[in-house]
Amino acid sequence: MTSILWFRRDLRLGDLPSLHAAAADGPVLALFVLDDLLRKPSGAPRLAYLYRSLRALDTDLRQVGGRLVVRRGDPVSVVPRLARETSASSVHVSADFGPYGRRRDDAVDDALGAVPLVRTGSPYAVRPGRIVKRDGTPFSVFSPFYRAWCEHGWPAAAGSIAAQTEWVTDVPDTGVPNDPALPPELELPAAGEAAALARWREYRDDRLAGYADRRNRPDQDGTSRMSVYLKYGNIHPRTLLASLGPADDAFRRELAWREFYASVLFHFPGSAREYFRPELERMTYSPSASESFEKWKEGRTGYPIVDAGMRQLRRQAWVHNRVRMIVASFLVKDLHIDWRAGARHFMQHLVDGDLASNNHGWQWVAGSGTDPAPFFRIFNPVTQGTKFDPNGDYVRRFVPELRGVEGPMVHTPWDLPDGVPEGYPERMVDHATERRRALADYEAVRL
Ligand SMILES: Cc1cc2nc3c(=O)[nH]c(=O)nc-3n(C[C@H](O)[C@H](O)[C@H](O)COP(=O)(O)OP(=O)(O)OC[C@H]3O[C@@H](n4cnc5c(N)ncnc54)[C@H](O)[C@@H]3O)c2cc1C
Repeated sequence: MTSILWFRRDLRLGDLPSLHAAAADGPVLALFVLDDLLRKPSGAPRLAYLYRSLRALDTDLRQVGGRLVVRRGDPVSVVPRLARETSASSVHVSADFGPYGRRRDDAVDDALGAVPLVRTGSPYAVRPGRIVKRDGTPFSVFSPFYRAWCEHGWPAAAGSIAAQTEWVTDVPDTGVPNDPALPPELELPAAGEAAALARWREYRDDRLAGYADRRNRPDQDGTSRMSVYLKYGNIHPRTLLASLGPADDAFRRELAWREFYASVLFHFPGSAREYFRPELERMTYSPSASESFEKWKEGRTGYPIVDAGMRQLRRQAWVHNRVRMIVASFLVKDLHIDWRAGARHFMQHLVDGDLASNNHGWQWVAGSGTDPAPFFRIFNPVTQGTKFDPNGDYVRRFVPELRGVEGPMVHTPWDLPDGVPEGYPERMVDHATERRRALADYEAVRL
């Protein structure tokens, strides 16, 4: 009896508990469903990465005698139809804990009737919902969550059985679509499990030891860039955690933020779209359909570190964490635009765009989330720039108009003897003035 292994955010063959469960039931048919509901809000970078990842998975499967069957449509009808076509006895998945994924899986489970939908493993070291306070209520502050998460621990890697698995291959499918049109300057990371493992090994051996010191420096290649691989499950966080020693606590904490936000989303599904602190929704926001929003998106605000970040987003579909915070703060507190507009823009352009990490990251900066930065701590784009990009190398890498400006002066081009270099915009707002306005707006709604 065929057992279907339905891939979603677990595009790998190694350390995949759902493959172990599927193979125990019989020959395995590897399936991916192109679900328009998920494809439509994804921008071109994420779609291209997904398709490349699917092609890599298909290649890996072919090396062990299998292949990836790709079908298109609503999983609630596609999965049961394939189960009927192949007389499958079970359908296996890694559990999804997002609001849409949970609803979809419950509906597929119902539609499958007597064929069970078996959920084994998840994209997290500890499945969302498992870590709660002693009284059973969810954590909404990171540090105690982190302590409880470390105490709980996580299982060891499941090992790889792909080469010993009997695969089902004689099933028609639509194939992986071609990549969408991409801007010529876009640099995407290599996709798939082998690329994820190669990147992790290289980072672990060469740079992990310097993470705590360099993680806030966008001018240095000091972070792992594993976010896209974790997003698509090309690698499981267990693999990363297994390499960490006691000295790597800073890195473990960052991985735990991903788990914390997934847990918050699990317990408070509305938190991805709604203000967790509703009083902040009453602040006076400027319309997002505006020239200001366009200038921010294009990286033409006149504040070099903000512009470098927004241009990195266009060029690499990824932005350094420190700079994500700076550009987000600028949108919310200098331009007074609702964080949700910025979060949507990020989700369209980021290759690692993840509802829980992105939208809660935005709420953190906006001061409206579960465990936010205090609203009054407003990022100053000049001091942030000079502190974290001290020689200005990051700005010069992404803002060609400023390449002729040497050293940290690049963060204050308006102070240059000849003024702002040709082609680079003047500051669109005065930070000190907008900071005062943001604080006054906040005082007016604060409870
Ligand atoms: C406004 C805003 C939006 C964000 N949007 C996303 C998003 O869509 N997808 C996403 O994966 N991360 C998001 N983050 C978190 C963080 O910026 C990225 O995970 C990180 O920059 C990815 O680069 P890296 O893999 O080199 O990180 P590293 O510093 O090497 O960290 C290792 C891993 O830990 C996790 N991690 C690190 N920092 C965070 C964090 N603050 N929150 C949650 N997980 C974290 C990621 O999985 C990351 O790959 C956002 C942060 C902010 C402030």
